[in-house]
Parts: sequence; C-alpha cells; structure tokens
Amino acid sequence: MNEVDAFNLLIIGLKEFFDRPDNEPYPLPQNLARATQILFQTGQLPPTLWQMLQRWSQPVQDWWPESWYIPDNFDPTFGLVRERSLTEEGLSYYYNVLVGKAAITTSYRFEHTQHALDNFRFQRLLNELKAERETAPEVGQQAIDAVYTQIRRYLIEHPFTTTAAIRQAFWKSRKIVPIEDVSGLYEECSDSTTQWLCHRCGPLHGQNGRLHGVQPTRCNNHTHNTTQAVPWEAGMLRIRPGIHWQVYLPGVPELKLLADLERIQTTHNHAIRQLTLWPMLDQYDIRIEFSDGTAWAVDIKDHRNPVRLASTLTILPGIGALAYRAGFYVIPDDRAQSDQIYMRLLGENAQLPASISILTHSQFVERVTQHARALSTKRKKA
Ligand SMILES: [Zn+2]
Repeated sequence: MNEVDAFNLLIIGLKEFFDRPDNEPYPLPQNLARATQILFQTGQLPPTLWQMLQRWSQPVQDWWPESWYIPDNFDPTFGLVRERSLTEEGLSYYYNVLVGKAAITTSYRFEHTQHALDNFRFQRLLNELKAERETAPEVGQQAIDAVYTQIRRYLIEHPFTTTAAIRQAFWKSRKIVPIEDVSGLYEECSDSTTQWLCHRCGPLHGQNGRLHGVQPTRCNNHTHNTTQAVPWEAGMLRIRPGIHWQVYLPGVPELKLLADLERIQTTHNHAIRQLTLWPMLDQYDIRIEFSDGTAWAVDIKDHRNPVRLASTLTILPGIGALAYRAGFYVIPDDRAQSDQIYMRLLGENAQLPASISILTHSQFVERVTQHARALSTKRKKA
C-alpha cells in the first residue's frame, strides 16, 4: 500500500459514500474505511466523520501529509468534498484517471464494481476496435475507423437520446459494433421529468431550484442561452457519467473546431481536400488535408492548469497515413483567456519541436483561413 493507493482509495471511497441512495453513513464503504485507517496513522486525522468531511473539503495541499505524493493529474489546490459530492476535480480524477484507465477495476475492490465497469465501456469498445483493426484488411480498417468516429460524435451530439434513435443511427454498422454496445454507453433517465442540457458542459442536474453542471468553476450560469430544456419521453437515455467526463467534455471544443474548419472548407472551395476527425481511432483529433497534398495534424487540449498540461504535450503521431507537415495543439479560447498568462506559461513549459505549435482556437482558425486563401489564390493563378 503506497501513498497514491491511499489517495485513490479515498477518492473511490468518497464516491461510493456519496452515491449511497439512503444517505446512511455507516458502515463506511470499505475503500473509505481503508483510506481513513491509513490517514489515521499519520496522526493528523480529526476524530469524527463530520470533521473529516470538513477537512477534505479544503484544498488537498493543505491537509494531505506533507511528504506524501499527490498524483500529477490531480490539482491539489482543489478539495475533494463539496456539498455531499466529490468536487469537480475529484470527479474528473475519478472518471478520467481511475475509471478511464481501468485502474479501479483491476487494482481496487469496488463496492459498486458494476458502476465502474459501466463507465469503462467506451474504453473497452475502443480497445476491442483497436484489436480488430490490427488484423483487418485496409477496407475493414476504414470501416472500423468510420464506426468509431460515428459513435464518438453521436455521444457528443446526442447526450440525450432513445434506444429507437440509436437503433436507427447504428443499424448499418451493427456488424462492426452491436447496437447494444452503443446503447450501453447511456443510462436511463428514470426520473421522468424534463431534462436540461448546457451546450458547454452537458447534461445538468437540478438542486434547490438551480441547475448545476459538472464543471462549476468553468460554467456556472445556466440561465443563459446555451441551456436547453429537453422534454422527457418514454425510453429516454442520457450519457453515463464516465462518458460525460471522458468523451462529452473534451468533445465539445473538438466539434466546435471541426465546424469552423468545415466553414473554411466551404468558403475556400477546393483549398481543403479533406477533414478527418479522430484519425485511426483517435491518434490525434483532426487531420486537415490541403489541395497541395500537405496535411496538418491538430490536437485540442482543454486543461485548467497550463504548467501541468505542458508536461504532457508530446510530438503527435505522424507515421504512414498520419503523416503531417505541421502539428498544432489548440486551446479553446475561453480556456486560454481564463488567465492572462495561460498561453505564455504553456509555451514556456512545453518541450516541443519546431514543427509543433501551440495556438488558441481563434489563432488556429485564422492560420487555416490564411493558408486556405493562399492555396485558392495560387490555384486561380495557375
Ligand atoms: Zn454549463
């Protein structure tokens, strides 16, 4: 048992604790009990559960044992507990790191193993498609890529749907991915009331007459015009929480950029030959092929902490059909503007070759526009 295990057990245990339908605190979920036992040995744990929850609502860096390691993908300026739930950072870590990498299903014993597995289904689907792709002939590989992109795009464009709509959308691809595997990425909206959707942060939940999203530090005003009522209907489905964190939230800026690139493609006829979303099962986000045969590779990154993000940026894969002349990391505008020095910190801390640039969404759209314009002019002259 090491320090990271203790941290992970605490997150998992708290998630299980808050997910209990009956609000009955005792006995504590096994993972939470183990985490408190480990923390208790440091001599710094308050005596009552209520006091522990109070403490865990403070920034982790203020109470986590000083010499103990905190995982890199958790921002310790956040606490773990907020209003009888995990915080935004805690949920992000739970779904993106623990569930997303299946750490919990193999390393930790789960009170709700099924819950973790349900939220791991997208990763499992991706792994299966990757395995199938390895042995498939080229035509088969293209079909697999297309179905993957179709499913992922559908999840972002339809956070609410019905089984009938899924059946209709995926009937033709059912031999590659069974329809049940797609509907398994959703859960039932069992409360039979109007659902609410924010086009920035996804399905919302109501509490005390207000609508709350999963990223309150980013998107907290749900009276604005990006919020939409979705009337309830029989058989209505909603993306599972894991899909919300792993696919929907990163997907919103990806599709926004794609839409802007498609506009450029229409305006500068023939300059952009092809736009490919998530090429070869998500090797990067968007591939742009220009009329002169060159290609650009783009990955969209939407992280709060630019220094932490910088340390994860690497050269984009560029072998075979993924080859590109220029690569770009693109930061959503509102993220880049969240802090005056965001882009500077990112640039200063990233270690990338000259062929890869970091731009904001607007800067990148401008760059593509100029390039497309230049290619159109050249074409007219020729
Ligand atoms: Zn929102």
